[in-house]
Amino acid sequence: MKDILKQLDIAGENKGTSTGTEWLPGSGDLLQIKSPVDGSPIATVQQTDDKNYEAVMAKAAEAFASWRLWPAPKRGEVVRQVGEALRNHKEALGKLVSYEMGKSLQEGYGEVQEMIDICDFAVGLSRQLYGLTIHSERAGHRMYEQWHPLGTVGIISAFNFPVAVWSWNAMLAWVCGDVCIWKPSEKTPLSAVACQHIISKVFQKNQVPEGVCSLVTGARALGEKLAADHRIPLLSATGSTRMGKAVAATVGARLGKTLLELGGNNAIIITPEADLNIAIIGAVFGAVGTAGQRCTTTRRLIIHASVYETVKNKLAAAYAQLRIGNPLDEHNHVGPLIDKAAVQQYLSAIEKCKTEGGNFVVEGGVLEGAGYESGCYVKPCIAEAQPHYEIVQQETFAPILYLLKYNTLEEAIAIQNGVPQGLSSSIMTLNLREAETFLSAAGSDCGIANVNIGTSGAEIGGAFGGEKETGGGRESGSDAWRNYMRRQTNTINYSTALPLAQGIKFEL
Ligand code: NAD
Repeated sequence: MKDILKQLDIAGENKGTSTGTEWLPGSGDLLQIKSPVDGSPIATVQQTDDKNYEAVMAKAAEAFASWRLWPAPKRGEVVRQVGEALRNHKEALGKLVSYEMGKSLQEGYGEVQEMIDICDFAVGLSRQLYGLTIHSERAGHRMYEQWHPLGTVGIISAFNFPVAVWSWNAMLAWVCGDVCIWKPSEKTPLSAVACQHIISKVFQKNQVPEGVCSLVTGARALGEKLAADHRIPLLSATGSTRMGKAVAATVGARLGKTLLELGGNNAIIITPEADLNIAIIGAVFGAVGTAGQRCTTTRRLIIHASVYETVKNKLAAAYAQLRIGNPLDEHNHVGPLIDKAAVQQYLSAIEKCKTEGGNFVVEGGVLEGAGYESGCYVKPCIAEAQPHYEIVQQETFAPILYLLKYNTLEEAIAIQNGVPQGLSSSIMTLNLREAETFLSAAGSDCGIANVNIGTSGAEIGGAFGGEKETGGGRESGSDAWRNYMRRQTNTINYSTALPLAQGIKFEL
């Protein structure tokens, strides 16, 4: 890992505040970053102090004044080069993400690939920021609408996708003409510092104004500061529903805009007409991948009574095959949780489920001994439960899967929708009526609804996000770019008169 840290310019002590190519010296506290993989300290990051925060805000405003006037395809060209730089650093950055966060190496590489993909998407988008033309009711008039950049976009990200979520926001925001200030999770700021080093070279080469791409580091208090700051017209925040509610209240009070990507409580419905091979693989990958720390992790399986026992036994057999250990070893399926606090939450969720009457068919527990020294490795577990249990209604960010039984499709959909969150959902069936009912207006209430695919993971081409307590935001593909721009309606009079709308007469 030492070589990787050197290669990424992040060995030893790191400053945690940057306006693009410059790193600001400050007096902020040093954050010691430890890997959940083996408990070793990796490096330190100096958190942003008040003085540097103000310097970053001022630089961002200054940079916006000129960046907004760059033609969008020229901004796209910079993002194209960012994609190239990420391609060149994919292996090193992917390994760092895996080591700092604890996800598998393949998922670490996959996360960097997602960044590269969104760069490609944003480059094309830079020539497609389309508005509409509208027929005016007045003779000699033309109406159209256009999209302008918003200004400074704040990006608060969660620990489980230390780099990809930032890129979903930043790459689109940049081609739209905004400037960005990123506050990564205090649990994974090193990956963010590494990204800043990678892209700063591209920004320097292209003479992008200092302040277009800033980084600030710190914990909740810094996030709260961004939320309250009226100089940030749009705050995109990814994390827990608790955080989202706080951010929405603060930003809403100043009538700013938010883009919220919050917790999920995702379910797969397995019907009697499912291809069980697909269903089992989809469910197991969805439940244990990233050790249950994806917003799209499968947390509930809603299984028809007629196949319930078969599915339960197959799942138990699949779980018995799982290899838990160092995520950098590609033979392992499941890595560690992010920290010991997450392990405590996992244990208390198991206890709560038992108290409420849950029956564990695959037991959980914390692993000890060689290879598990960090104390963050836990056993993925499966409990038979009831949909109304308080613990089943919540998102526990760990590999705990609840089995729920149903008899009719209507009942299954009601169970699927009967939680406060609304991110990802899926149905396993080869029956067209069942699939289409699930996708209809009377079906899943989630932002993502799949057929014969699990709940976990998504392609960058689609709009990503969810309803209800997931926050309602949409990022990444489709027309999510509109979040980062303001719409302006323009009417031009090229006639010799001044007719008023709705035929109103006003004569002097
Ligand atoms: P978290 O809410 O603890 O922290 C997320 C970020 O918000 C961090 O940068 C943190 O410093 C900041 N923060 C915390 N409280 C804040 C406040 N009051 N005001 C402003 N900022 C604040 O979440 P986490 O533990 O890092 O991540 C896990 C959560 O994120 C899960 O709930 C998961 O479902 C969710 N998540 C959602 C998506 C999505 O796209 N829907 C993607 C990834 C993660």
